[in-house]
Amino acid sequence: MDFSSITSVIGLATTALGATEKAATTAEAVKKLFASEKKPENSEVQALLNTLATQLTAANMMNVDLSDAIKALSRELKRQDDFENEKARYELFQTGQQDVVFKLREDQANGQPIHFICPVCLNAERLISFISGEGDFKVCQRNRDHTFRFKSTSDLRAGKTRTSWDF
Ligand SMILES: [Zn+2]
Repeated sequence: MDFSSITSVIGLATTALGATEKAATTAEAVKKLFASEKKPENSEVQALLNTLATQLTAANMMNVDLSDAIKALSRELKRQDDFENEKARYELFQTGQQDVVFKLREDQANGQPIHFICPVCLNAERLISFISGEGDFKVCQRNRDHTFRFKSTSDLRAGKTRTSWDF
């Protein structure tokens, strides 16, 4: 969770609360004016009502901002939750060439083909990016600089040589 987004929501909440309190204080002042013995001046009442209207508009706008920020934060929390759930479906896997990647757990496959994902993107960017390729190297689909060595060509050549000898 990005701490700054929580801080900004709390900041907005504090500002919105302050604006609402200001409007409440003005409303209280209007009430007092009418509660007093002598009839209040119309101009005085009008000035207070104008102030109240402005304060209510400001408070309303701040509450809309606050509501938007809370919705965005809630979406972000859900996105992170989804990511953690998705990440839990993978386990570390060491390739034949000692490279470490993430592999879909057999018991979490839910009918999907077993595949590998890029550990660089997972750890640094919190993104699930497939690793694809057929040769010795497989490549991250998102960043082609993320390459992983699965097999050794020389091993394969040795294998082929043996096969031809056997043959
Ligand atoms: Zn990657």
